[in-house]
Amino acid sequence: MIIVYTGNGKGKTSATVGQAIRAFGNKFPLCFVQFMKSNTQAGEQQFLQELLKDKYFIGGKGFFRKEEDRPAHRQAVLDCLAWLDSKKEEARMIICDEILYAYNAKLITQEEIENLIAYCNENDKHLVLSGRYAPDFVIELADIVSEIQEVKHACHKGVKAQRGIEF
Ligand code: ATP
Ligand code: MG
Repeated sequence: MIIVYTGNGKGKTSATVGQAIRAFGNKFPLCFVQFMKSNTQAGEQQFLQELLKDKYFIGGKGFFRKEEDRPAHRQAVLDCLAWLDSKKEEARMIICDEILYAYNAKLITQEEIENLIAYCNENDKHLVLSGRYAPDFVIELADIVSEIQEVKHACHKGVKAQRGIEF
């Protein structure tokens, strides 16, 4: 199954972690990579490190804001893809958090994502992709697509991200 969590509401990364827990509970070998996000000691990062050990990789460099940082962010994406290459064979479920953010920032190509999807389809593996603004080609190729729509978010009244809620 190719599963996508997208949309502008809060819950995409939470959904990928929830999916990982469900698969882990079923003793599925997993590999989980966080594109874009760096290690900020977020609660889920500490949890996944303990749970998945070397089957978890935090490959990102954080928010991509300045064009001059593109080469470093592209390299981080390549590192994530290389890590996936080394782990994907033994996994039954592959989880790529924020990979669609990388696509929207033009840090990963359509072909690279298509190759990953094709590999999972051909080898009977589950693939979870998350991030805002899933492109049409991903929606087309996916089996399940959930769009988390923001109805309300405290950030609009100036509430800052909080430990245990946002990270
Ligand atoms: P979550 O990680 O909570 O499941 P998400 O993966 O859907 O959310 P992202 O777009 O990855 O959401 O954003 C990471 C977190 O930052 C989310 O918890 C989101 O609610 C929060 N967030 C987004 N925009 C803001 C903002 N402007 N101020 C504070 N927090 C924000
Ligand atoms: Mg997220």
